[in-house]
Amino acid sequence: MSKQSEVIIIGGGIAGVSAGAQLSQYCDVTILEKEPTTGYHATGRSAAVFAPAYGNEVVRNLTSASEAFYRSPPDGFTEVPLLKPRDGVFIASHAQQQPLANMLNKSSHLSELSADELVQRVPIIDSAQIYGGALDCTGGDLDVDAIVQGFLRQFRSNGGVLICDSEVQHIEWRNGLWHITTPSAEYSAPTIINAAGAWADEVAVMAGISPLSMKPFRRSALLIDAPLKIDITDWPLVIDVDENFYFKPEAGQLLISPADETPFEPCDAYPDEMDLAIAIDRVQKISQLEVSKINHSWAGLRTFASDKTFVVGYEPGQEGFFWLAGQGGYGVQSAPALADITCHLICGSNNIITQLHREKHLLDISPERFR
Ligand SMILES: Cc1cc2nc3c(=O)[nH]c(=O)nc-3n(C[C@H](O)[C@H](O)[C@H](O)COP(=O)(O)OP(=O)(O)OC[C@H]3O[C@@H](n4cnc5c(N)ncnc54)[C@H](O)[C@@H]3O)c2cc1C
Repeated sequence: MSKQSEVIIIGGGIAGVSAGAQLSQYCDVTILEKEPTTGYHATGRSAAVFAPAYGNEVVRNLTSASEAFYRSPPDGFTEVPLLKPRDGVFIASHAQQQPLANMLNKSSHLSELSADELVQRVPIIDSAQIYGGALDCTGGDLDVDAIVQGFLRQFRSNGGVLICDSEVQHIEWRNGLWHITTPSAEYSAPTIINAAGAWADEVAVMAGISPLSMKPFRRSALLIDAPLKIDITDWPLVIDVDENFYFKPEAGQLLISPADETPFEPCDAYPDEMDLAIAIDRVQKISQLEVSKINHSWAGLRTFASDKTFVVGYEPGQEGFFWLAGQGGYGVQSAPALADITCHLICGSNNIITQLHREKHLLDISPERFR
C-alpha cells in the first residue's frame, strides 16, 4: 500500500520547505528528501545575502516581494531576526570605469562612492587600485538556518510530513495519481512538486517529462580570520562590479567567493583548490589583505534555466506535475514569494504579499515559455 497525500514535494531545500509551509495550510503535504537532513545541498551552502538589486527584473521584483516576510515573519516563525541590514558596495578598478558608470546609470537607488570613501568603509582596500564604487543600501544578511527551521516549524504544525533519507527513484502517472518509489516506501499523490534543485531535470525525466535544460553551476566560498585589530562587523558586502569576486563579514570571519560559475553535473559539490586561490588573489589585487590560512571552504550548485529566471508552474500537457526550480543564485532571498505563487497556483490561495508581482510575472516564470 502506498501512503497517499494531496501533494508530494520532491526536495527539502529552501524551495521545498517554504512551499511545504504554505501549502500545508490548505492540504496534506509530504516532503521527500534524499539526504539525512533538509538544506543539505545549495540551501545550506549559500552566502546568505539578501540583495534586491541582484538578478534580472523578474528576480529583483520577486526578491523585493519577499522582503516584508523576512522583515516581519508570522508569529511563532522565529525568535531571531531573519534579515539584518548590511550595505553592499560595488567596487571598480581603473579599468572598470565603464561598467561602473553603466551600473550607476541603470539603478537609481545606487549612489556613487569615491575610492577614499570606500577605504573609509573597508580599510583594507588599497585606494590606488580602485577607481570608485556604488553604494546599495537595500540589502542585508539572511539567517538561512532560522529561515529553514521556521518554515519547517510551520509545516509540521500544519500537519505536514517530512521524510528524509528518501531518494525518489521511480515516478509513474497511473489512474490520476503519481506513484513514487523510494528505497523504503511507496507514496502517491495527484500533484507532485519538483523542487529538486540541481536534480530538477533528472526528476522530470524520471516522471516521463522532457527536461528543461536546467544547468547547475558550481560556486565556491571560503572563510578566513578577520584582518588583525580591525572590527569588520559593520563592513558592507563588497562586490567587484563585474562580479569577479565578493567578500563580506560572516560571524566574525571574512567570507570570500571568486563568484565562480563552473558548469557541473548534479552532485555533492566540493571546492576546487584553484578557485579558492583565485578568490584570494583577486581580493589581494585590490587590498592589503593577508591570508595565513583558510578556516573553512565549501561549494554548492546554483541551478539556472537558460534565461536565468525561475521556473514555477505546471508542466503543460501533463496533469499534476509542478516545477519549482531554477532558483539560481537567488533561491533563499526569493523563497517566500515563490512559495506564495506555488500555493496560489496549486490551491488558489490569495496571499497579498506577492499579488502585484504574481499578476505581472506568472508567464515569465511559467515552464510554458520553454515548450
Ligand atoms: C556558494 C553559494 C552562494 C549562494 N548565495 C546565495 C545568497 O547569498 N542568496 C540567495 O538567495 N541564494 C544564494 N545561493 C543560491 C541558493 O542557495 C539556491 O538558489 C537555493 O538554495 C536553491 O534551493 P533549492 O531548494 O532549489 O535547492 P537545494 O537546496 O539544492 O534543494 C534541493 C533538494 O532536493 C533534493 N533532491 C534532489 N533529488 C532528489 C530525489 N530524487 N529525491 C529526493 N530528494 C531529492 C536534494 O537532496 C536537495 O536537498 C547561493 C548558492 C551557492 C552555492
